Amino acid sequence: MNNDVETYDSPSLDCSRTFGTREEFTEQINTEHPGEYRRDG
Ligand SMILES: [Zn+2]
Repeated sequence: MNNDVETYDSPSLDCSRTFGTREEFTEQINTEHPGEYRRDG
């Protein structure tokens, strides 16, 4: 892996979206996967 850009993949196996920031990643979970995944803390 030589990619310096950190990305965030959707935790859902049925969803292949990737995000460039943690904010987008978290927002996507909250909007598209409500109740499926919970944030610790
Ligand atoms: Zn997703």
